[in-house]
Amino acid sequence: VDKTTEVGRLGLALNTMLGRIEDALDQRSRSEQRLRTFVADASHELRTPLTSILGYAQMFRRGAAADPDDLRTVMRRIEDESSRMARLVEDLLVLARLDDGRPPRCAEVDVAALCRDAVLDARLHEPGRVISGPGDEPVLVVADADQVRQVLANLLRNAVTHTPPGTPVDVRLTKSGDEVAIDVVDHGPGIPAEYHERVFDRFFRVAAGRERDSGGAGLGLSIAAAVVSAHGGQISVLDTPGGGATFRVVLSGRT
Ligand code: ADP
Repeated sequence: VDKTTEVGRLGLALNTMLGRIEDALDQRSRSEQRLRTFVADASHELRTPLTSILGYAQMFRRGAAADPDDLRTVMRRIEDESSRMARLVEDLLVLARLDDGRPPRCAEVDVAALCRDAVLDARLHEPGRVISGPGDEPVLVVADADQVRQVLANLLRNAVTHTPPGTPVDVRLTKSGDEVAIDVVDHGPGIPAEYHERVFDRFFRVAAGRERDSGGAGLGLSIAAAVVSAHGGQISVLDTPGGGATFRVVLSGRT
């Protein structure tokens, strides 16, 4: 009887182990699939500006842009496409660094000061736009200051590039208990409710066709999401009352 029970137990244990191995393999093939998709998307995004640059260079070589005005246009397009590529490569590098799983280098930082700096930067990039930030009172969070700067820069750049020139942008802080919510509030077209989750996916753009010419590659928010998740925080998008998007980052003030 003992032997049968023993064999039964062994069988159960083996079964559990097999189940675990299957799960691990599943997970591995899912992450390999994700990696393949990522590489394919990245190559596609890089190919688009490269093809334009090649086209313009060939045009120039064939003498099709002999007129000084045409030449200037061609050169400007090459410049634009090159800087798009440079930004894309920069974003890919940032993502790769975040993906390698090293924990952020956290310390107590004044997030109000980081917000004010980010607001100043954004104003420099678009003079004339009304962008306001939090006041002087320090608000402490435990975070990697460089990474939080990057998140703020990405959210502010979006708020400025995806909204009409005259509309104001506001960065607000709200403390509740140990947590601090950073809201980047704009009054542009907002994000349709069906995209509130997907907007944080890599390479996702709300209007892919329209934005291909002007915007980025759809990595800014996925970088922000990766940073926030490495901090154990949350990022989400809400509708601004009266219209627009409010991106909310919640970070902890606890060590
Ligand atoms: P990108 O770098 O191309 O802007 P993001 O990941 O930062 O990519 O944003 C993804 C998409 O979400 C954008 O292409 C845009 O369609 C939309 N989006 C982001 N921020 C805003 C905003 N403040 N208002 C409206 N749409 C936005």
